[in-house]
Amino acid sequence: MLEILDTWLRTAAERIHAEAPRLTELDQAIGDGDHGTNMDRGFKAIVATLDARPAPDPALTDQAATAELLRLVGRTLISTVGGASGPLYGTAFLRASSAVAGLAEPATGADAIGAALDAAATGVAALGKSTTGEKTMLDALVPAATAARSALDGGANAAAVVGAARDAAQTGAEATIPLLATKGRASYLGERSIGHQDPGATSAALLLTALADVVG
Ligand code: ADP
Ligand code: MG
Repeated sequence: MLEILDTWLRTAAERIHAEAPRLTELDQAIGDGDHGTNMDRGFKAIVATLDARPAPDPALTDQAATAELLRLVGRTLISTVGGASGPLYGTAFLRASSAVAGLAEPATGADAIGAALDAAATGVAALGKSTTGEKTMLDALVPAATAARSALDGGANAAAVVGAARDAAQTGAEATIPLLATKGRASYLGERSIGHQDPGATSAALLLTALADVVG
C-alpha cells in the first residue's frame, strides 16, 4: 500500500495544482480566496518531502511504512497549508496514520482505506467542532467514509471501496451549494453563503477522485 499512497499523493498534487484556480475562486465567493494556493503549497511540499525521503526502513512492514508516511504527510500539511484547512487536513492524515497502524497485520488495502477514511472524518469533526450539514469538508468526507464502510461490509475490493467513497464525496460536495455555512470563514457571510459550493468539500472530493483513479 505504500506505493499506492506515494502515487496517490503525487497525482493529488497535480490535480490540486490544476484545480487551484477553481478552489480559490470558490473560496473567493464565501471565504478569503486562499484555499487553492493553500492546498497547492501543501501538496507541493508533500511531493518535495517524497522526493527527499530516504527509502523506507526495510525492517518496517509495508503497512507500518504506509502509516509512517501518512504521519509525515499530516505534519507537512499542518506546517505548510495554513488557514483552517491546514490543521484540519493535517489531522485527517495523522488520524488516518494511527488507524492504519492500529489494524491487525497484514490489513487489506480495502480495510486500510476504510479505516483511514473513518478516522480522517472523525478527526476533522473533533478538531473543527463540526458536523455534516454545516457546509464544510465534512460534507464530502463523512459520506465518503460511510459509503466506503458499507462497500467494505458488502465485501467490496479496494477499487470498489474507493469508487464508492469518490461518488459519495462528489455528491456531498455538490450538495453543499444550498447549505448555510455555520463553521469557518464562510459562516461570517450568513445567508450570503447559500448558493456556493464549499471549497474544502470540493478539495476533499478532488483528493478522493485522484485516489479512485490511482486504485481503480
Ligand atoms: P481559511 O478558511 O482559514 O481561509 P481555507 O480557505 O484553506 O482556510 O479552507 C477553508 C475550508 O476549510 C472551508 O471551505 C471548509 O471546508 C473548511 N473548514 C473551515 N472550518 C471548518 C471546520 N470547523 N470544520 C470542518 N471544516 C472546516
Ligand atoms: Mg480561505
